[in-house]
Amino acid sequence: MIKKASILALVVCLFLVLLSPGLVQARVELTILNSSAQAEFPSRLNFDLSAESDVNITEIRLHYTVDQASFAEVTSEVYIKFVPSTKVDITWALDMKKTGGLPPGSSMEYWWTVEDAKGDKIETAPVQVQFEDTRYSWHSLTEGEITIYWYKGEKPFAQELMAAAQQALDRLAKDTGAYLEKPAGIYVYASTQDLQGAMIYPQEWTGGAAFTRYSIITIGIPTRSLDWGKRAITHELTHLVIHQMTLNPYNELPNWLDEGLAMHTEGPLEPEYLAFLNKAIAEGHLISVRSLSSPFSAYTGESVLSYAQSYSLADFLINGYGQSKMLELLNTFSKGSGYDAALKKVYGFDMDGLDALWRAKVTAPAQTTK
Ligand SMILES: [Zn+2]
Repeated sequence: MIKKASILALVVCLFLVLLSPGLVQARVELTILNSSAQAEFPSRLNFDLSAESDVNITEIRLHYTVDQASFAEVTSEVYIKFVPSTKVDITWALDMKKTGGLPPGSSMEYWWTVEDAKGDKIETAPVQVQFEDTRYSWHSLTEGEITIYWYKGEKPFAQELMAAAQQALDRLAKDTGAYLEKPAGIYVYASTQDLQGAMIYPQEWTGGAAFTRYSIITIGIPTRSLDWGKRAITHELTHLVIHQMTLNPYNELPNWLDEGLAMHTEGPLEPEYLAFLNKAIAEGHLISVRSLSSPFSAYTGESVLSYAQSYSLADFLINGYGQSKMLELLNTFSKGSGYDAALKKVYGFDMDGLDALWRAKVTAPAQTTK
């Protein structure tokens, strides 16, 4: 009996200790119970956080920084709206429609700061979250600085595309001295439709895109369109290399140079483009270099001529003045130089001068009778 009573007394005492608010509260400090992030590619990233304290939690902030090439480290900060409480469970979504889409293979780091009414504060360690297109099971193939990711087609399909990519890097280095500054990932979708599912704002014409700051290319290549795919990879990879090399906060490349180099690395001008170029030369309605420095016209005929002329201008500079001058031009543009100033510094003529010299060359009888 006595034994039972003492055990009961002990149990009651323990119970009272546990119930005593002063004692219990003294043990609960500001604590993070759970923190996680889930990507819903390509539209959003969901962040979850649970925390508790002995007094109300009054402030929660989410911090994140996207892994990309930039001129200054940019950390975004979000003040989370919630009702102050001793225990909070919050969910917050980063809407990619507001921030602009991220390509597959991109990543970001995030961390939280949580504060309670006593002024206690916790900052969690940064965690990396990967943004992957989980709609497909990707295979990968790496050679040198390039990794190709694909999900449809056998390995030889990817090997052929890889060979084209390596050849593009070689040709570009030979013509311009430019090379890939960071390893690149090429995501090959099985169709344009699949590719558009990876984009926040898909546009009808989007067949491929180079995400310079992430060193990532996304492209739609049906297995039956291998030849087209090789050209397209060459084109986008050239954009990636040239953009990486000339990235600066002040100025972009003139469009004729950017597209001209991408077309030139593809190889000889395709017959359809050549026909447009020859017709414009014969009829005397070539577009000025100055106009071609801005984004091209969306009208099909005008657009085809813009690309064809850009090819021809790049060819004129590379074959007429050599690799070292082209490299110097790109290095000058990488410092944010204006278009006329860069041309003048490297070649001694401005955009109008280039226009005149190039026209004289392509309209010379030997050229038009070819
Ligand atoms: Zn292009």
